[in-house]
Parts: sequence; structure tokens; C-alpha cells
Amino acid sequence: MTKTIPVKKNDYIDVIFEDLTHDGAGVAKVDGYPLFIPNGLPGEKAQVKVIKVNKGYGFGRLIEIYEKSPYRVEVPSSEIHKYGGCQLEHISYEGQLKYKENQVRQVLTRIGKLEDVTVHPILGMDNPWHYRNKAQVPVGERDGRLIAGFFKPRSHEIVDTDESLIQLPEINEAVQAVKEICSRLGISAYQEETHKGVLRHIMARYGQKTGELMVVLITRTNDIPNQNKLVDEIISRLPKVKSIVHNVNSKRTNVILGEKTTVLWGNEVIYDLIGDVKFAISALSFYQVNPVQTKVLYDKALEYAGLSGEESVIDAYCGIGTISLFLAQKAKKVFGVEVVPEAIEDAKRNAELNGMTNVEFAAGEAEVVIPKWYKEGNSADVLVVDPPRKGCDETFLQTVIEMKPKKVVYVSCNPATLARDLRILEDGGYKTMEVQPVDMFPQTTHVECVAQLILTKATNPDLTQ
Ligand code: SAH
Repeated sequence: MTKTIPVKKNDYIDVIFEDLTHDGAGVAKVDGYPLFIPNGLPGEKAQVKVIKVNKGYGFGRLIEIYEKSPYRVEVPSSEIHKYGGCQLEHISYEGQLKYKENQVRQVLTRIGKLEDVTVHPILGMDNPWHYRNKAQVPVGERDGRLIAGFFKPRSHEIVDTDESLIQLPEINEAVQAVKEICSRLGISAYQEETHKGVLRHIMARYGQKTGELMVVLITRTNDIPNQNKLVDEIISRLPKVKSIVHNVNSKRTNVILGEKTTVLWGNEVIYDLIGDVKFAISALSFYQVNPVQTKVLYDKALEYAGLSGEESVIDAYCGIGTISLFLAQKAKKVFGVEVVPEAIEDAKRNAELNGMTNVEFAAGEAEVVIPKWYKEGNSADVLVVDPPRKGCDETFLQTVIEMKPKKVVYVSCNPATLARDLRILEDGGYKTMEVQPVDMFPQTTHVECVAQLILTKATNPDLTQ
């Protein structure tokens, strides 16, 4: 017998919020039937309106809060707060940290069936605002001048903003300056509907440790009107700029960057430091966006790797070699693997830049390259993985289980796939010793973790001696 749904569309009902979803919506249950309601916080009593009813769950809108959560903070009603991408802005930072830490614990238990794992208190930021070192801002036109900012949800309507609450001041300043200069020089904005106009996005990247700024102009056209004047004005308005790059994207697409990239002025790259390691960042490179917390995360990964200088280490999913080079400071040898060939070229250059000779990089899928290495008789003492949100490929994890590195350090940007993969490794003979959540993305729902696993005695004869 199917259970009847206890609510109807357009009902007004009183609820008590019990939980938050992984994207920050409040969860309230009516006779066990879950309703997801944006902006509701656990513990709050409220009136909600039911707006959509599905078989197993529904959606509602918050109408009135009768009893507020102690973690609720009032958010100003201006557009930047409404559309600025800070989904957790209505929760105090203390509350956000608590929510993220709880989410990690719950997911490890529910999905990973890891009952007794140590989850440390999350490492948050002293100042959880204005931390990002990269922005890609869409450009439009209104009343004959350029606008730039955020898209309204599920639309391509641009909200013109002066700043983002989570970008570094240098990034906000750069985006505003470029917008104003382009507007004054009569450079038109790209129009999606007609596929006409010039400027699609303004991108800015900043090396917080070096003070070097990069500006990338992403256009539909190969030529930029008034290009020389534009470059001169950017240089004089933004003294920190070290690189001005032009990227051409002539396609009808939502993808931001196109295939052709040229340097208009200055260097092809800017530099930044994480700890003592220096990195060259090009317009297209993947580089962690929160430099302060990246150091915290990598320090923890290095601590969990517990290197003495004798180990060989594999860094799967290595990107431009950031973690690999961090590990190479303490390891005998590090092998990095990454699927994007350009990132591997960057990684090699970064190794050279730091005079590190104990690292090697290979382009390819971790699930292809590492099994091949293993078949050829190569192994590692420590394996570090930092996969994208979908987690590790299962065949790759099976190779890890056969290869038996003594330690695995798992850096994850998605607790759900982390929990799934930890379960596979546990079933293969590993024990999860510790999990450390790190808040890399304050004000947003993203959660980052690093976990340490060791091979247990049962599967590692070396350890029984
Ligand atoms: N460790 C790096 C990058 C982490 S992002 C850093 O901290 O900067 C995850 C990386 O995994 C991306 O660079 C992505 O290109 C890469 N990747 C995705 N799928 C992969 C696969 N199957 N094999 C190897 N690398 C992969």
C-alpha cells in the first residue's frame, strides 16, 4: 500500500526544521515526509508554504519564522546578498562550521558505515570573507554602458555588482577597473541571443603571496577595439598587474574559455607561493582558489603522509603538481598523475622553478596509468589522491588495494564520494585513522576534507613483525 502524502501544494503549514541538505536548504518532516525549504535552519519553528509535492519529498517556501536559530544572521536585502553565490550567508560562521563538520560525520556514518572514525573539529578561517584569488565575471550591457556581476539563478540575466563578498579586494578592484575602462572605450558586451558584441567575461587572478595580478579578457572576436589604449589604461589603473591575456571564445556556448589565448602585455603567467613552494599560474591553469586554507589543507596532507625522506609517493589527480611539490620537500621521490596534459606541462615547469629533481609527472587517467605502473613492478609507500567531486574510479581503488601502499592520504571536495571510497578501501584492508575537514569555501556549501588511512596488520605482513 502506498503511503499517502500528508501535504498538498499551496498548503500553509507549521514545521520545525530538523536538518540542512548538502546544498544548505532546511529540512522539515511532516509525518515522516521530508520538505526542503531554502533558508530554514535546524531548530527553527516556522510557517511554510508547500510549493511542489513529489512522491517521496516536497519543496516549500519560508513564510514566517516563529522561533529563530541562534545561528541565524540577518542578511541585507541588496542584490549582492541575494545573488552573490553565498548560500550560507544567513548562518553565522560558527554555525556554518558546525553544519559542515556535522555533515562530514553524518555522511561518513551513513554512506561509509564508518562508526568510530575520528573526525576533528573543522579548521575554519579567521576572516571568512574576501578570500578567493580568482573571478570569472560575465559582462552585459545596460543603458549604453557595461555591467558585470552575477547571473540570477536559472537565468542569464546579469546583476551588476561592485564587488563579490568572497573575492579578494584586489580581484574586486581589477574587475571593476576593467569594466569601467572597457565601457569608456566603447567596447561592446557579447549578446548571447544574437551572438554579436565583443566582451564575454572579465577574469582576474591574483597571487596573494607575491602581489601579482593577471587580467584575462575573454572575447567573441579576434580583435578588441582600442586594444592598445585598453592595455595602457589597465596598466596605469592597476599597478599590481603583471600579465594581460586575451582569450578568444567565438562559440555559442556556456563554457567560459575558448581555445585561443595570447598575451597582450607582460608575462604569460603570474606566480604565487604556498608555503615555500612557488607556482606559475597561467590563464587556464587549475589552482586552488583559497590560498590561506590551501596551505592549511596541504600542511595536513603532508602531516598525514608522515614522510621521513625515504618514501616513494604517488600523487594521483595532481593538477599542476601543487600537492606533489609540497610532498617532494619531504619525500625521496614523488610521481604525479593527471589527466589534463597542459596541467602536466605546468607541473613539470613548476618542479623546475623550484629546482626539484625528485618528482616525475605523467599525463593520463589515474585508473589507467597507476595499474600499468603496478603491472610493471612499480609501487609506492604512500599514495595521495585528490580527485574531482565524483571521487576515485573503483578499478583504481582495487589497484590500490593490491598495491598496498602503507598509507593513503585522501583529499576530497565531496564528503559523499569520500565516504563511499573510504568504505571500499576499508573493505580492502585499510583503516581510516583520522578525518580533518578544512573550510576552503566559507559562505558556500562546499566541504573539503583530508583523511588518513593506514594498511592494517591483517593485510600488511611487514607490520606484524
Ligand atoms: N591536487 C591538485 C588538483 C586537484 S583537482 C590541487 O590541489 O591543485 C582534481 C584534478 O584531477 C584535476 O586537475 C582533474 O583534471 C584531475 N582528474 C580528473 N579525473 C582524473 C583521472 N581520471 N585521472 C587523473 N586525473 C584526473
